[in-house]
Amino acid sequence: MQAEVLAVGSELLLGQIVDTNSAVIARHLAAIGLDLYYKTTVGDNLSRVAAALRQALGRSQVVLTTGGIGPTADDITREAVAAATDRELVFSDHLMAQIEAFFAARGGQVSPSNRRQAFIPAGAIAVENPVGTAPAFIVEVGDRCVITLPGVPREMEYLLVNRVIPYLRGRYGFKGEIRLRVLKIVGLGESRVGELIADFMEKGRNPTVGTLAHLGQVDLRIAAKGADAAEAEALIAPVEAEIRRRLGDLIFGADADTLESQVSARLNALGARLGLAELGSGGVVGERFAAGVAGGFAGGVILAEPSGAARIGADLGAVLGAEDRARALARAAALWAGVRVGAATYFEDVPTVAPPVTLVAIAVSVDGQADARAYRFGGDLPSMRIRAATFLLDLVRRSLPAPR
Ligand code: ATP
Ligand code: MG
Repeated sequence: MQAEVLAVGSELLLGQIVDTNSAVIARHLAAIGLDLYYKTTVGDNLSRVAAALRQALGRSQVVLTTGGIGPTADDITREAVAAATDRELVFSDHLMAQIEAFFAARGGQVSPSNRRQAFIPAGAIAVENPVGTAPAFIVEVGDRCVITLPGVPREMEYLLVNRVIPYLRGRYGFKGEIRLRVLKIVGLGESRVGELIADFMEKGRNPTVGTLAHLGQVDLRIAAKGADAAEAEALIAPVEAEIRRRLGDLIFGADADTLESQVSARLNALGARLGLAELGSGGVVGERFAAGVAGGFAGGVILAEPSGAARIGADLGAVLGAEDRARALARAAALWAGVRVGAATYFEDVPTVAPPVTLVAIAVSVDGQADARAYRFGGDLPSMRIRAATFLLDLVRRSLPAPR
């Protein structure tokens, strides 16, 4: 049993938008254990979309399309599906009534072009769309099927989750459940992580274990397939326990946890708050606190140059060495914000070395006791900032007692 996805839209080929729909579909198919073998992108061209559909139907049982079922003349997916499955397009009173009701509920007028959306290939299963105007549809061809979904991501995912996945489970009997656990790691590179858990990463195992490297962070994914969710979880449990035993507190959290959420939890448990000074990281650390629901963040300053530190009471001219400067900034940030915990970044170009490197120091101060680390980073500035923010948040995490 194999599936494939056909993303339709010239804007995808022009690079104007990124095909996120195929990735969303891929994740949902993986979750029910349906193997996805191909992802194809085609422009808004009737004969090319029809040709791609014929090829897809020739090799895959389940073909999902996304995009090109709107009301405008360049939306040709419905015509292409009809052509590739040798059907006529027929008008559905039922779908037209649904489209009219959608507009009526929003006080809008159905335009003549919306009538196009009430046409589906003869014999197709109409999939009503309560979240938009374009109805989706499924054409069954023997034991195969073409499932045509809208392009608007929110509509696409709604119909996928609420209509298509249940349809696939019902028709093809997908019973398995896949469960994922993602363990998040800072302080060890992807290759070292891979070496430490190599035995779990061998092919053909259940759960499968894989790694995904981000800047400064490695995510370790444990995916198990079971007859139901409980069985899948039971398969994950011993593998997760052993990986946690090997990696210890290099693992800062799991699943939806972020470093900033973990830092916030520790600050809250301590009844403390954090002040921040960023010299070089340009607000990237503060943004991570401000963007989330993270509590415990009192505020921060972004400094453009060392002399600016005087405004939060730090005289960096009197301090030598990147680590000590970062410590001075972290203490000053706490005093400036009137809180117990301060954190700081400090970037300094190292002009004599080629290729260029930046000396990056991070520091945390808890009740005036400061701890710091220094690194030599290469690469572009945005990447260095993200890595510095991650390393700093991890240092803050380690400097505060774990809750409970
Ligand atoms: P509509 O009724 O809005 O016309 P449609 O089914 O015709 O829907 P498209 O016109 O192809 O879909 O796309 C509508 C919008 O959805 C696009 O402008 C784009 O922003 C987004 N979109 C389309 N395809 C994708 C995709 N594969 N990944 C992410 N976004 C997409
Ligand atoms: Mg459209």
